[in-house]
Amino acid sequence: MKQIAVLPTQKARLITYYKHTWCNTRLSQIVNSIFILTTIIVVNSMFPNIAGASQNKVVDLRFSDATDLARLVLEVEQDVKFTYFSLKSPDRVVIDLQNVNRNFKFSSLNITGNKVDRIRHSTPKSKQDTRIVIETTKKLDPRLFVLSPNSDGSRSDNYRLVIELVDPNPPPIPIMSSNSSTISGDGPIRDKDIIVVIDAGHGGVDPGSIGPAGTYEKHITLSISKMLARRINEEKGMRAVLTREGDYYISPNERPRIAVRENADLLVSVHADAFTTPQPRGGSVWVLSKGRADSELGRLLEQTERSSELLGPAAEVIEDRDTERYFAETILNMSMDLFRALSYELSNEIISDMKSVTRMHKKTPQSASLAVLTAPETPSVLVEVGFISNPQEEKNLLWAEHRQRLANSMFTAIKRYFKKTPPDGTLWAKLKNQAPVEHKVKSGESLSILAQRYGVSVKELKVQNQLKSDLLRINQVLIIPQ
Ligand SMILES: [Zn+2]
Repeated sequence: MKQIAVLPTQKARLITYYKHTWCNTRLSQIVNSIFILTTIIVVNSMFPNIAGASQNKVVDLRFSDATDLARLVLEVEQDVKFTYFSLKSPDRVVIDLQNVNRNFKFSSLNITGNKVDRIRHSTPKSKQDTRIVIETTKKLDPRLFVLSPNSDGSRSDNYRLVIELVDPNPPPIPIMSSNSSTISGDGPIRDKDIIVVIDAGHGGVDPGSIGPAGTYEKHITLSISKMLARRINEEKGMRAVLTREGDYYISPNERPRIAVRENADLLVSVHADAFTTPQPRGGSVWVLSKGRADSELGRLLEQTERSSELLGPAAEVIEDRDTERYFAETILNMSMDLFRALSYELSNEIISDMKSVTRMHKKTPQSASLAVLTAPETPSVLVEVGFISNPQEEKNLLWAEHRQRLANSMFTAIKRYFKKTPPDGTLWAKLKNQAPVEHKVKSGESLSILAQRYGVSVKELKVQNQLKSDLLRINQVLIIPQ
């Protein structure tokens, strides 16, 4: 989505100034307000003019409501041009779709949650167009973008117009959510896949750093994130979720919320570094600093009226109200420390793989106060893939093969980390805890026959059983790799 409204240079400079401290809430407020101002006059101008082409059709509709946003997805046959604006009392968002047939109904939509009251048609300015009105229960920030067919690995042949209505003041992130759902048994069933949230840094009005040849960090981060997502989705037992799938703005605070919402096992945020001089180069990996973790903890406790709500079932054993906060802090501190330790461990794994595909600026994990890394129960790391301000590294980052190598190195590290310590309740944990499958060799059986029967390779069989040759003895016991 291209914003045709031009940012005042002053604000653009401000964004550049803050590009790597974008955790700073001031930036997010500034960018938010710019975004809100511009959305009123935004026109999606990325797609060629389709006037004169046959009328576009809406072929499917979906609605969902999450803690921090409501989402309406329209599947359309062709690219779609749109404009939109917000109105007050009552709060509503009006969307005009150009050259789209209005012969579809919203009555089949199951509108859940508490953000949207009603979605309806209204009279468009031109007969060719369709006007949609979304009546909301409070002021929500609209965010619209188009996904092209198969752009995110989905098998849909249609374009998708995604309309997201973001709650500017969402309820606080729930902590200990996975614990309480396990114990009470009425929470969502744990996905058996290991879920990795991949966060492409920056986007939309926030370009991130800009290289000397004019390369935008936001494009590099999205490309690498998608490459990493593809590798993860190809792996059985793992699933990737992208925080953004196109070029649009997401506030720094919203990114960890996505990890919480997805019940993620890991959040990886992808960035490219920049400096005021061209010399610095190399990658680095970052975790949340202890100070920030502690202040996040304080903030979470402040936000919650009763700290027992944070503790879930643990609160039942803490009856003395005076000591409650102390216990809450201690338990949450331990939890924060644990997830910081896991993040640190994973960072080391990533560094050990990344250094074979790129120079490293820092050889040990670094820590900083970054909003994106504050999901309370999710190990979170931020990877700087190189300095976009260094002309050679900018060139490298523009090379798809180099980006793929970076994505591969992150993938290998993440996979190794989860092989060692698979999260509870996942397929990988189950496989790891299973008793080994054994096979007693019978007459006429060979390594290749057994490999085929158990769906493994001959090489894996040999490695698992430390076999030096292909010969098997009758009654020899082999361990079948999982
Ligand atoms: Zn960045």
